[in-house]
Amino acid sequence: MRMSRYFLPILKETPADAQIVSHRLMLRSGMIRQASAGIYSWLPLGYRVLQRIERIVHEEQIRVGHNPMLMPTLQSADLWRESGRYDDYGEEMLRITDRHGRDMLYGPTNEELITDIVRSSVQSYRDLPLTLYHVQWKFRDEVRPRFGVMRGREFLMKDGYNFDVDRESAIHAYNRHMVSYLRTYERMGLKAIPMRAETGPIGGDHSHEFLVLAETGESAVFFDSRILDLSLGGRDVDTDSSEDCAAVFEAWTAPYARTDETHDPAKFEAAVPEDRRMNSRAIEVGQIFYFGTKYSEPMDARVVNEDGDRVFVHMGSHGIGVSRLAGAIIEASHDERGIVWPESVAPFHLGIVNLKQGDGDTDSASERIFARAGAAGLDALYDDRNERAGPKFATMDLIGLPWRITVGPRCLRAGMVELTCRRTGETDELEPDAAIERVRLSCHGP
Ligand code: ATP
Ligand code: MG
Repeated sequence: MRMSRYFLPILKETPADAQIVSHRLMLRSGMIRQASAGIYSWLPLGYRVLQRIERIVHEEQIRVGHNPMLMPTLQSADLWRESGRYDDYGEEMLRITDRHGRDMLYGPTNEELITDIVRSSVQSYRDLPLTLYHVQWKFRDEVRPRFGVMRGREFLMKDGYNFDVDRESAIHAYNRHMVSYLRTYERMGLKAIPMRAETGPIGGDHSHEFLVLAETGESAVFFDSRILDLSLGGRDVDTDSSEDCAAVFEAWTAPYARTDETHDPAKFEAAVPEDRRMNSRAIEVGQIFYFGTKYSEPMDARVVNEDGDRVFVHMGSHGIGVSRLAGAIIEASHDERGIVWPESVAPFHLGIVNLKQGDGDTDSASERIFARAGAAGLDALYDDRNERAGPKFATMDLIGLPWRITVGPRCLRAGMVELTCRRTGETDELEPDAAIERVRLSCHGP
């Protein structure tokens, strides 16, 4: 992409109403623009990041055998009356009436709709276990939308639903989701800690939230520092094996880790030696629930089990805050100059800065590098504007691309360009092809 043709409305001033760093940086770098309270347009740069986050979420879901699908944003109130949640959900639900006077709502979550789909086509234990999910916009009329995309009213969520013949099978699904969520966050460069949670309006008796430590987080958390040493580190867990998934669950839930909602100070002190007791702020980036037959009973979703009995299916639901993650990643990865994107979610892998636009040699060298980067499978943003070096560098630093190739007459005379790593600030002089190869290796591996 050429900067001269790219819609990148960078703000010079720091927006006064943005209280946290991710919100400020998303506005300043032209990633988002507020449409109304808690509702945002995703501008081209932000949309790229959102798509890359969503892609990782899909890949990790499909990898463990979950079925992607897409349900609508608007739902009929009838199903929610069946489950009893139409009245229970309260003012967070946006209720709409269509021209025929039918009650509709903008979905805050999808347990009812998915249960309706499954009960009408799944009759036997042989069709289970089954996990369906989608990535779709949700609406919750939050009392205090704030912090940009962190607490929006309209936000993108991955929500998944498992259907199992009994509790044991559903617990496997729960643990498998934990493995898959841990993998998902690790790929985004995040350390997300599973913590015992309350179940809230989703219901059920078994739930964990995933929290990313950040000073600006809305949750207070208390944990054993040992949990920070845990990592799946790309380890292959056999997610079809309930033992393997349970082992990951055991390892990650053994150290004490709770949010303020479930924190028990006496237990914390008894279980964790003083030098390992940590408390901090954190951002919730996902939550998993096992709720048994909470929806299948009122909605009469049953299957015939092996003994020929018609039993209620056991269910769980699982959510990842896709749009919130864009903000959470920035909270976890930025410096005083701007965003520092992990390669896995960066809007572009590489920025190319032409230091002397209009000069025949630097222009043709830059064009060649831009073309080579594309041929190497790299997304590059080429700053071909007639601007001074200072503002060009400042823009690249602000938008946080992992790598920058700087093309200037001095280096070029020796056949070289500069390659700078955004995270470390290290700069090397290299031949253009070697610079591209280094970026390619770093972003795509050998
Ligand atoms: P919170 O406690 O932050 O209000 P929640 O527990 O109500 O969230 P869930 O139903 O667990 O939310 O939704 C799954 C995920 O969706 C959350 O972990 C969070 O990452 C994201 N999410 C929830 N509400 C919002 C929101 N208003 N804006 C952006 N993301 C959200
Ligand atoms: Mg939650």
